[in-house]
Amino acid sequence: MDQIRIVNLEVFSHHGVFKEENVLGQKFLVSVTLYADLSAASGTDDLAKSVNYGEVCHFIKSEMEKYTFKLIEALTEHLARKILVNFPIIEKIQLEVKKPWAPILLPLETVSVAMEREWHLVYLSLGSNIGDKENNLNSAIELIKADDMCRVTKVSPFIITAPVGGVEQDDFLNGALELKTIRTPAELLVFIQTIENKLKRVRTVHWGPRTIDLDMLYYDNEVIRTDTLTIPHPEIKNREFVLKPMCEIAPNLVHPIYGKTVYQLYQDFLTE
Ligand code: ADP
Ligand code: MG
Repeated sequence: MDQIRIVNLEVFSHHGVFKEENVLGQKFLVSVTLYADLSAASGTDDLAKSVNYGEVCHFIKSEMEKYTFKLIEALTEHLARKILVNFPIIEKIQLEVKKPWAPILLPLETVSVAMEREWHLVYLSLGSNIGDKENNLNSAIELIKADDMCRVTKVSPFIITAPVGGVEQDDFLNGALELKTIRTPAELLVFIQTIENKLKRVRTVHWGPRTIDLDMLYYDNEVIRTDTLTIPHPEIKNREFVLKPMCEIAPNLVHPIYGKTVYQLYQDFLTE
C-alpha cells in the first residue's frame, strides 16, 4: 500500500511519570508512516484526495499539548487511534514516539515506543425477540454508528426466524452487519455487551428471549479462543439466521478454519 512518511516531528510537551516532567516538559520526536491508497490523489494531483501531512503534524502537536500522559505507551496509542479516526483515508498507521531526554540519569541516544494500528474488518450478527424487534435492531446499529472507533459499512435486510434451542418463545428478527473498527477483539466484545446492557437485554434463560443479542462472527482472518471470546463464532455453520443475512452482505468471505465461503457454508447447511 502507498505510504506517507513523517520523520522526527519535534513537539515540546509534558508527558512523563515524574512530576518534574509534567511541570518542565521536554522534547519528543514523532515519526509516522501513514498507509492509504494514494492513486486517486496521484492521478488527479488533488490534495483533497490525499492526506494533508501538514494537518497531520499540527494535529499530533495539538493532541500532545492537550493531554498529559504518564507513559509514552499511552501517548502513542492515543495518537495512533486519533489519527485513524480523524483522517478517514488512512487505513493503517505505524507510529513511533521518541523521548531523547528521558530522565534516567544515564546517557542514551533515545528511548521510544512504536506501534502499528489499523482498521479491522468485522461481521456481527444481531437478533431480537422481545418488544419492537425492528426498533431494537436499529437502536443497536445506531449505537454502533455513534462510536467513533467503529464504522458501519453494510447492513443486511432483517429476516424473521423461528427460535432454536428448545425454549418456548416468540420468533426472532435477525440481521448481520459489516463494520470497520480500530477496537481490539476484546474491546469490541465489551463494547457490544455494553450495547446489549443499554438496550436492557434480559439474560435470564440461556438461549431464552432477549431484547438484543449481538455476536461477533468474524474479525479479519483471526482465529481466537479465550475464556470469553471465540472467533470465528463457533455456531456460524449451524445457524440459518446467521448464514442467510451474511449471504446478503458477504457471500464470498472465506472462513479462516473451514476454508469455505459464507455462500458455501449456507449451501452445506441447506443440503445437510
Ligand atoms: P448466545 O449468544 O450464545 O445466545 P450470550 O449472548 O449470552 O449467548 O453469550 C454468552 C457469552 O459468549 C458471552 O458472555 C461472551 O463472553 C461469549 N462469547 C464467546 N465468543 C463470542 C463471540 N464471538 N461473540 C459474542 N460473544 C461471545
Ligand atoms: Mg450473544
